[in-house]
Amino acid sequence: MENKERKIKLYLSVVFPLGLGALIWAFYRFPIDKINAGLIALSIVTVFFSSYLRIQLPRTKIHLTVSDALIILSLLIYGGEVAVLLAAFESCFTSLNFRRQGISIKTRTVLLNIAVAALAAWLTTALVRTGFGAAETVAYMESDTSLVAMVIVMALTQFVVNSVCVAIYVSLKSEKTIWQVWNEYCFNALVMYFTGAILAGVVVKALYPINIFLFAVVIGFFAIVYMTYRRYVDDIRETAAKAEQSERERAEQAEKHIEELQRHIAEQDRIGEALRESKERFRHAAFHDSLTDLPNRNSFIEMLKFALEKHKQNPDFNFAVLFLDLNRFKTVNESLGHSIGNNLIQCVGKRLRELIRDDDLLARFGGDEFGVILNNVKDTDDVVSFAQLINYKFSYPFSINGREIFINTSIGISFGSAAYDEAEEVLRDADIAMYYAKDHKKNYEIFNQTMHTRAVTLMQIETDLRYATERREFYAFYQPIIALDTMELNGFETLIRWKHPQRGMIPPSEFIPVAEETGLIVPITYWILEESCREMMRFQRRTPAGKPLFLSVNLSSKHFAHNDLVERIQEITIKTGIAPQTVKLEITESAVMDNPEKAIAMLNRLKQIGLQISIDDFGTGYSSLSYLHRFPIDTLKVDRSFVSTMEDGSENGEIVRTIIALAKTLNLDVVAEGIETIHQLHQLRILGCEYGQGYLFSRPVPLDEAEKICEDRGRWQNVIPNNNPASVAQNREFTHLRIAK
Ligand code: C2E
Ligand code: MG
Ligand code: MG
Repeated sequence: MENKERKIKLYLSVVFPLGLGALIWAFYRFPIDKINAGLIALSIVTVFFSSYLRIQLPRTKIHLTVSDALIILSLLIYGGEVAVLLAAFESCFTSLNFRRQGISIKTRTVLLNIAVAALAAWLTTALVRTGFGAAETVAYMESDTSLVAMVIVMALTQFVVNSVCVAIYVSLKSEKTIWQVWNEYCFNALVMYFTGAILAGVVVKALYPINIFLFAVVIGFFAIVYMTYRRYVDDIRETAAKAEQSERERAEQAEKHIEELQRHIAEQDRIGEALRESKERFRHAAFHDSLTDLPNRNSFIEMLKFALEKHKQNPDFNFAVLFLDLNRFKTVNESLGHSIGNNLIQCVGKRLRELIRDDDLLARFGGDEFGVILNNVKDTDDVVSFAQLINYKFSYPFSINGREIFINTSIGISFGSAAYDEAEEVLRDADIAMYYAKDHKKNYEIFNQTMHTRAVTLMQIETDLRYATERREFYAFYQPIIALDTMELNGFETLIRWKHPQRGMIPPSEFIPVAEETGLIVPITYWILEESCREMMRFQRRTPAGKPLFLSVNLSSKHFAHNDLVERIQEITIKTGIAPQTVKLEITESAVMDNPEKAIAMLNRLKQIGLQISIDDFGTGYSSLSYLHRFPIDTLKVDRSFVSTMEDGSENGEIVRTIIALAKTLNLDVVAEGIETIHQLHQLRILGCEYGQGYLFSRPVPLDEAEKICEDRGRWQNVIPNNNPASVAQNREFTHLRIAK
């Protein structure tokens, strides 16, 4: 940097004195006698206006100015001294003018321009004087050839000195070589010098004969040429500007286009992102339960497929499936409302989630059903402890809206095995085991093949049951009920039988629960009620007046969900003509307790139309003694499990005694079920049980046999040898002591 500056200074220290010398020389030798109007005019035009008369050659860096032409002209007319001074002044004025226009030019550059201009003019003068003599003389006197040669020398000298000096200075300031600078910036100026020199030569020739007319024509000609050229240049510049403008517009257009395209791409990206998000949401919804946000059945099955496949490939990997169902959830939902029900499900989900390990899966299938896949289980105990843990955790209440709710689960367990073809089968078996657990009131149950067979049978029963009514496969069987004091027939309980075309007689315990679950129990009950009422009417007609036969018909809890129950039963009694007072409807305690308010209301209405109500299997259900007085009932039927075991002195005997005492307090009749032995009969008679039913008297029999029983109502009076009240009292005493013991 410093080195560069040093070189520039060195260069200037050479050029400045030379330029100054030229100027001193010009001043010193200035021909004052030559000052005239022409010189003054020429000086003014050269110094002050020539730089304005400048044109740039289109698409080049060449600027044509008349200043050089005028300096050569001044040299030709007035000699070198005038030319040196004019060149210096013109250069000074032009530089300062540039500065005034805002172009930054250092003072030393201005001084350099002046020095170079003076030096170039001086050297030109010196060369011409040496080669041709005084230029002003040659121009006027000598031949045109000498003038041309001289003018060429002038142009060349001016060009060389000016261009070389400038190229050296620029190259010192930049990184470029002198040659590069000269070639790039200065070479083109050659044209300008030649044009200027020729112009000057022509002007001198025109002035020489002092032919004003010719001079005017020449000036006019050049003026026209200049104007035409200027116009031409302006046109070109305008065209170039227009082209540049339209180029710019096109570029702007293209830029706009690109922006629009980018916006479009961004919009596409946004839409893509939104699509991806909504796809993600749909995916989530497809595999999750909306209430608990747990995986749903679909994702459970997917996971299960994966686990099964893994087990098949690696038998050391064992897994288990747990099917969970909340007990009595329906009751919570119906009594406390669906919103609390939903909250409960969410809390159950949370509590279960806390028990699950990271590599296990908990899912909600819907309703109150949940599923768990336990991966990497060691043995059965492992899974059983997990089921027990769930039950333990569920022994604590759930707090919902400030209310404490107790709920527990029935759990079915199945184990992954290579014998399964499909994942759904593993889940199905856990489901079967869960139902088994529920039926047997157990907390959990592990699946076994018997359950499956049973489930298949049940399914078959369900299918066949749908056709049983129309195929007339149901039969009403009748079991006599005996008045224990007189040992006379009191009535019959109707018990349904299903004669299956392939499987023969199917007991009600096998198909009644299925019928209840499928809702088929409703038409079945109406059928058997109508059937037995009709038959009982026939029996009643044959029995003596005052001792009408009673008919007991079992009523399922499902009927309480049907509001038209009372109307339908009334229709049947009217249709068959039976006296409603002789019809007893048997219901279990739990049937009433499922929805006590509704059931009690319905029972009241049934009583209003004259029917009697009997509580069946009393003692096995809720033991809802507190409710009992609210039930509009007439009879209690002691469950046969108490009767069958009362004789071995167990506490069941005490229970039977208590039930009979309770019935008497509430002013209800008592019927003992399942009397099989004479001993049981004796005991019941002693306890004051009024009615009895059991194999000791008769099994449930078909219609024709029932008819025969009807015809011989006192046939059991021989069963008790001493059938008189005194012996009964004696026996009662004895039995009482025995039981008390
Ligand atoms: P349930 O109403 O308690 O009927 C008495 C059951 O005890 C009958 O069984 C009867 O055969 C049986 N039984 C009577 N005496 C004895 C005995 O001395 N020893 C033994 N071991 N059993 C005796 P069944 O006919 O199999 O009916 C079973 C249950 O099915 C009935 O119990 C009742 O709950 C239901 N059921 C029967 N028929 C109908 C019906 O038409 N509708 C409804 N809803 N349920 C019915
Ligand atoms: Mg019954
Ligand atoms: Mg019963």
